[in-house]
Parts: sequence; C-alpha cells; structure tokens
Amino acid sequence: AKRAGRDNFQFFTPSMNAQVLARLTKENALRQALSRNEFRLMIQPQVRLEDSQLCGCEVLIRWHHPEWGLVPPDQFIPLAEETGLIQSIGLWVLRESCLEARRWLDRGLPPLMLSVNLSALQFRSGLVDWVEQVLAETGYPARWLEVEVTESVLMEDPEHAVVMLQAMKALGIRVALDDFGTGYSSLAYLKRFPIDKLKIDRAFIDGLPDDGDDIALVRLIIDIARHLNLETIAEGVEKEDQRVFLLEAGCQQLQGFLFAPPLAPEDFLEWRQQHTS
Ligand code: C2E
Ligand code: CA
Ligand code: CA
Ligand code: CA
Repeated sequence: AKRAGRDNFQFFTPSMNAQVLARLTKENALRQALSRNEFRLMIQPQVRLEDSQLCGCEVLIRWHHPEWGLVPPDQFIPLAEETGLIQSIGLWVLRESCLEARRWLDRGLPPLMLSVNLSALQFRSGLVDWVEQVLAETGYPARWLEVEVTESVLMEDPEHAVVMLQAMKALGIRVALDDFGTGYSSLAYLKRFPIDKLKIDRAFIDGLPDDGDDIALVRLIIDIARHLNLETIAEGVEKEDQRVFLLEAGCQQLQGFLFAPPLAPEDFLEWRQQHTS
C-alpha cells in the first residue's frame, strides 16, 4: 500500500501493479536507450505539388528495443515528455539529422529543407542556444532547417514561445505548425507566432476527396494560408484522388504513403536518386 495523504491509503490492485511495473520498466529502458544506441532516424520525403519534385523531408524517430523490437513514437514520446528525457532525445534527433543532411550536401546533392519535430519541454530551457550550437557543430546551414511545432506546444506558454520562435527565425530557421486544425487554438495565433508553413493534419486529408466537411475545411485552411502568406503542406496523403484534389485546391506540398513512407537514411538516398529528374 502506498500512503497518499494523511489517513488516506491507496491500495494497488494487481492490475494497477502490473501497469505501474510496465511503466517503470519502459521508463528504465528509455533512460538507457540513448547510451545503448537504440534510436534510429527515419526520413520521409516531402514533394512539391506542381511538379512532384522532392523539396524537403521530415525526420521521424524510431526506437529499436533489443527484446521488444520496434517501439513506435506514439508509445514512447509521451513518456519521454513526462520524464524530461525528451530533452536529451530531442537534442540527439536534431544533431543526427543535421549530421545526416550535412553529408548529403558534402556529396554535392542540392539542399533540401530538413524538418525536425520539437516538443513543448524543449522550449523550456536554452532551446535557441543548443540549436545554434548544433548548427555550429555540424556545419549545417540554418536556412535549410525547419522545426515542426504543434498548437499545444505554443499554447503551453505563448509569451515564451513567441520569444523562442522569433529567436529561431533570427537564426534563419523556418517554423511549421504541425497537425494544424486539430488543436483548439484561435486563429489569432497565426498572427501572433512567426510561422512560415501550415501542415494540414491527416485527419482532414483522410476524408478527401468525398467528405463534404473535410473538403470545406481543407479549402478553408488553404485559403487562410494564402491570405496570411503561409506555405501549405498536406500530411498523410495516401491516394491519387487526394493528390488531385489538393492540387486543384492550391495546396503547395504533400507528404504521405502515396509518395513514400518514412525511410531509413540509405533508402531515402536511393529514393532521392530515383526521383530526381
Ligand atoms: P507527426 O509529427 O504528425 O508525424 C506524422 C506521422 O504520420 C508519422 O508517424 C508518419 O510515419 C505518419 N505518416 C506519414 N505519412 C503517412 C500516411 O500517408 N498515412 C498514414 N497513416 N500515416 C502517415 P510516426 O513516425 O509514427 O510518428 C508519430 C508521432 O510521433 C509524430 O507525429 C510526432 O508527433 C512524434 N514524433 C516522431 N518523431 C519525433 C521526434 O523526433 N521528436 C518529437 N518530439 N516527436 C516525434
Ligand atoms: Ca511532424
Ligand atoms: Ca503532423
Ligand atoms: Ca500527429
């Protein structure tokens, strides 16, 4: 039994016990994952709609546990955020991404926008300093780096987030608003934050080209973006008729299984060679 409050005893039921144990086990494993070199990066192409040319890529982390196999990010990123481990994991992701993309430049490949996801906790302390340091260390140019943040990340501490993003912009880094339309922020946020790009969430793309609500919402988002001079990218594009709809609606970029899933770095390079005209 665990003492909670003064005369208040809480007893763990066997199933709670198992849950707590599973969480602790996972947390311990996650703590060691970095030093045991269990993380990998996957890279998903982003293409321009008008000519289907590669224009950028999103970096997505994977955890390969020696016993459990592949643990998807949805099953460890939240825990990494709760425990603060996301700070060191996020730094690792950024450094490895910049190193990888730097190698592409060294090979003489044309520059490509590199998009990296950021969590709320990473905004707390020293974000701009360590981003600057990674860029200096890796020699990767700031203007080819983009960070993806969600509405909820910005809303956690809006005043602070504005300052952080402005400092990032001053370094030349671009900002994309991820999962756009799924949060509960007001449109005023679009004016307040120095955002370059809206990522239309997969939830709206799924219903295209048939669902009337999704059609209206996607058109509206693209319209708003156009008026505010923001770029648009649709994520989770899986079908050709979705691509055709988005082309007609004036969306600028696409990402999704229709083009490629997230790829291991060597597969991404191969994909890149095959898709460059
Ligand atoms: P997200 O940032 O919204 O990433 C897009 C997710 O959609 C990825 O899932 C990607 O694999 C998946 N996806 C891409 N194209 C398609 C498609 O056509 N159809 C479908 N059904 N799915 C598609 P993934 O890799 O499992 O990542 C899940 C989430 O985990 C990400 O959502 C992001 O929130 C988080 N995440 C992943 N890597 C990182 C990271 O390095 N740092 C942080 N902070 N979060 C990360
Ligand atoms: Ca993302
Ligand atoms: Ca997203
Ligand atoms: Ca998402």
